[in-house]
Amino acid sequence: MRIMRRTVALLLCALLIMSLLFSSVCIVRAANHVCTGECCLICILLARVERVLHGLVALLPALAALFALRLLGQLCLPQIAPRRAAHGTLVGWKIRLDD
Ligand SMILES: [Zn+2]
Repeated sequence: MRIMRRTVALLLCALLIMSLLFSSVCIVRAANHVCTGECCLICILLARVERVLHGLVALLPALAALFALRLLGQLCLPQIAPRRAAHGTLVGWKIRLDD
């Protein structure tokens, strides 16, 4: 379960980074285009990219709040967090008792 959550978190981070990079590259490459008028495809693309960036920027405070809550929970409630030592066994730790 823990590995699955980490994998999903890594995939979401990669998706976020790729979205930011792709949006930035699109804006930089199309900044000085020759506009053909109202139905310019590049202007439509830029408008969509701008909407994506605004959406991502709107997510940042929520992500920061979630991160702060998690960090606060770990600092204030350390006794609730599972301890690895409690879940191990002597065999898992490779400790022999026949010496
Ligand atoms: Zn244009």
